[in-house]
Amino acid sequence: MNIPRGVACNAPRNYLWLWCCTVCLVLVFAFSSLAQPVGKVPVANGLAGAVASVDEDASRIGIEVLRQGGNAVDAAVATAAALGVTEPFSAGIGGGGFMMIYLHDQDRVITLDGREEAPAAVTADLFRDPEDPAGENLPFFPNRISSGLAVGVPGTPLNWQTALSRYGTLSLSAALAPAIELAESGFTVDETFAQQVARNQERFGAFTSTSQLYLPDGLPPAVGSQFSNPDMAETYRLLANQGINSFYRGDIAQAIVDTVQSPPVVNDPPFTVHPGAMTLGDLDRYEVRVRPPVVSDYRGYRFYGMGLPSSGGITVAQILALLESSDLASLDRSEALHRIIEAERLAFCDRNAYLGDSEYVDVPLTGLLNSSYISSRQLPARASEPCTTPGNPLPYQTDPSPSLTQAADVAIANPQEGLSTTHLVTADQFGNVVSYTLTIESTGGTGIVVPGYGFILNNELTDFDTTVPHPNAPEPGKRPRSSMAPTIAFAPDGRMLAFGSPGGSTIITTVVGLVTNLIDFDMSLPEAISAPRLSQRNGSSTTIEPSDAIDITALTQLGHQFRMVDEIGAATGLETSTDGAFQAAAEPSRRGGGAAMVVNFMSE
Ligand code: GLU
Repeated sequence: MNIPRGVACNAPRNYLWLWCCTVCLVLVFAFSSLAQPVGKVPVANGLAGAVASVDEDASRIGIEVLRQGGNAVDAAVATAAALGVTEPFSAGIGGGGFMMIYLHDQDRVITLDGREEAPAAVTADLFRDPEDPAGENLPFFPNRISSGLAVGVPGTPLNWQTALSRYGTLSLSAALAPAIELAESGFTVDETFAQQVARNQERFGAFTSTSQLYLPDGLPPAVGSQFSNPDMAETYRLLANQGINSFYRGDIAQAIVDTVQSPPVVNDPPFTVHPGAMTLGDLDRYEVRVRPPVVSDYRGYRFYGMGLPSSGGITVAQILALLESSDLASLDRSEALHRIIEAERLAFCDRNAYLGDSEYVDVPLTGLLNSSYISSRQLPARASEPCTTPGNPLPYQTDPSPSLTQAADVAIANPQEGLSTTHLVTADQFGNVVSYTLTIESTGGTGIVVPGYGFILNNELTDFDTTVPHPNAPEPGKRPRSSMAPTIAFAPDGRMLAFGSPGGSTIITTVVGLVTNLIDFDMSLPEAISAPRLSQRNGSSTTIEPSDAIDITALTQLGHQFRMVDEIGAATGLETSTDGAFQAAAEPSRRGGGAAMVVNFMSE
């Protein structure tokens, strides 16, 4: 037997092969577990950082930023910029979003409100049909969503710049560089992208700029083909070279205003497209707000959620508070789900009646989360009808300037809140974490690409409520109420979790589902994400995904009614443990599956 040269080995000769094989196996295992998996995978484990998003190119770009020493904020912006290219129907610089950042060296959670804002000319009758003698509103689809009226002043570019200059290490130009290359060189069209264009074909076809970009030869791009967006690359380049003012005060601002005021409609469009009244002054005035998070506790975990103008953090906190007195883990699963459904219903009843942009509305926030108020809201033993009378948190207000308002008579959910958007998470070797939800509202936003600039304008103003008076009524400069709920949580054992989801108002119930799956039902993060979902938003039926894991018969016997949908949300999340391990997790199948990636060594 020949002993391989170079292997220093004192083992007796007859054990040598066994020893060598063991060493080889250990090495093979070690290297294979450290290598970044190729392709789109929903779970990844690593040692020096993590990114999860819905898209492989975007996650890879975030990971590359981390590998080069960037922090979680740099990676979040670079990932989001890439999503603006590959997921242009869910996110982009024409929209807004909420970024939540945990800064390790300050042990502090910050939220950035980059929500779109109503132009100064907006009034409560924003969507009233000018042709209708009865003064009815325009039909939601397609006239409201595909109009200049629906466009809010975009917040995403300034959100990126604010995040980078306050908490990042990269310049905007450096953070945009990979996305510029991606927009120029192109990416492979997947099923989700092609399907989203196909579903919007009529709307997209109504605009010259949108059909030129997304309907070449009148058809959606083929699955597997390469798609590039040179105008988008050029717009990012303008932002990179001229800075953020090019968007809010320069050429891009002018192009946005022109597009809103005079949408690029084809000859003989399939529906009437109404112009909006956004001006250069509206863009010039736009500000990102740095806001405190909504802080709450649930079974020993500390949660940080997004505050107003998002209803996300408050409503999640209220639902969890309503559930805290029920030991969900020890209950029969159907009884536990029944309580979750009823807690969601009660909290949505309050949300719909009280929550709006707190710069305009005196929201009884402390009352809504007050423990005595929560105890006064009993969960019923059987399914209840939609709640038409919200609770009265006003007597429980303990802040020095209590609300003087009455609840609006509007507890039933607005059924038209959107179902698009995207969520991403990043974590770095320094202990910082970002949880970021961004959107252009409907899938495909207004459907209007700004001619020559390659990005779609949002239709976020359709998130306002049109029944007036209402805390969420359209007003000049106001931000429409959102449901986005980027979340960061600290477990009692020191683990940190970050997660969130798209899905309009179902975002809130998806986040509650993730929390109860993780904490009450003891699931791992990947299990919590892939588990079937249900969503009750104070409607007559509960939305549910098809699954054998939920006993519909038992819940029906408790009086519940269900409406089956293919899928709810598209979550991403990550977990960091005290020993320095990272787990990134994304959907295995919803929205075509997400991309979880990690960094192992900074020298990789
Ligand atoms: N516009 C929605 C919100 O702010 C998000 C849209 C969606 O997730 O579909 O809550």
